[in-house]
Amino acid sequence: MELKATRSRRPTAATQLSDLQVDTLLDKRQRDKGIKELRRAVDDQQLLLHYQPKVNSRDGRIVGLEALIRWNHPTRGTIAPAQFIPLLEESGMIVEVGSWVLGQAAADFLSWTQLGLAPLRIAVNVSPNQLKHRDFLNELEKALRVDLPGHAGIDIEITEDVLMDDLDACIQKLSAIRELGVRVAIDDFGTGYSSLRYLARLPIDTLKIDRSFVAMVTESPNDLAIVSAIIVLAHGLNLDVVAEGVETEEQRKFLRLLRCDEMQGFLFSKPVPKDAIEQMLRSGANTTAQAHVASDSSSSRTVSEPEFRKRREAAQKAWN
Ligand code: C2E
Ligand code: MG
Ligand code: MG
Repeated sequence: MELKATRSRRPTAATQLSDLQVDTLLDKRQRDKGIKELRRAVDDQQLLLHYQPKVNSRDGRIVGLEALIRWNHPTRGTIAPAQFIPLLEESGMIVEVGSWVLGQAAADFLSWTQLGLAPLRIAVNVSPNQLKHRDFLNELEKALRVDLPGHAGIDIEITEDVLMDDLDACIQKLSAIRELGVRVAIDDFGTGYSSLRYLARLPIDTLKIDRSFVAMVTESPNDLAIVSAIIVLAHGLNLDVVAEGVETEEQRKFLRLLRCDEMQGFLFSKPVPKDAIEQMLRSGANTTAQAHVASDSSSSRTVSEPEFRKRREAAQKAWN
């Protein structure tokens, strides 16, 4: 009798959970909790947009803004998108949140235009599941149907992985999107798997060079060669190029010499709340960026043109 009782308390092979299963259950519980919290965040309007300027490489003028989502958590403060976008994707909430982002960016665009501030184009990140969703075009049209002559200056940024599933469907959708006057950029370019043949067929306007290459452009001949090749490739395909994550003056000068069209990064401004961008646009907005460009002609160069050429030649050798 006692033996029987002892036995029944001991887990059998069928009921015993492996460490992996326990971890999975804990992960699932964590995820479910996160999704519930996000649901509340959406309902309580804890999500907001920050904006980061993109500047023209030639004259340093702010030519556009990228809208970047933040979660203003009641106890944990501002949470970055990397920590909650995957949960939004997994739960399907990304479609609803993505529509909100489009609507908010269009509304901000409209309010800035009404204030008489330069109507800069605003780029919105669109996740693969959002783009693939059957209602995406409708949602985009809805966001663009603001009370303006023409349409709101909204562009979209998508990543290379979205292109891999069904290229023909993707081409069709992107063409329809561009017919609305929306420009399409491939974000984080160089980190995905898109083939060059695909790239030539895609109805897109811009390549955004991933910040991992930009971070090393002045240090590593290989990264310099990659950045240089992406810029030549983009221009050959009639596309604009934006460098992401420009943090130093030296990186800016290299990119300018390589004829990169636009830049974005902490050197010019971090992503900031709507009010701060508004202030930037109002008060001679472009001064910081333009000051950097003005320093091109001053004696305080961090890299001279011959030095740049020397490094580029080294990069080309490394490439061969
Ligand atoms: P992304 O679209 O590539 O955005 C650029 C990221 O680089 C932003 O991070 C920005 O803060 C950061 N960044 C910009 N300049 C610099 C720099 O000079 N140095 C460094 N170290 N970082 C810089 P953030 O805001 O954390 O966004 C991360 C990613 O989350 C975005 O990458 C985008 O893929 C995604 N994301 C952001 N907002 C949205 C959204 O509304 N919808 C969707 N689907 N994804 C979004
Ligand atoms: Mg982006
Ligand atoms: Mg990016």
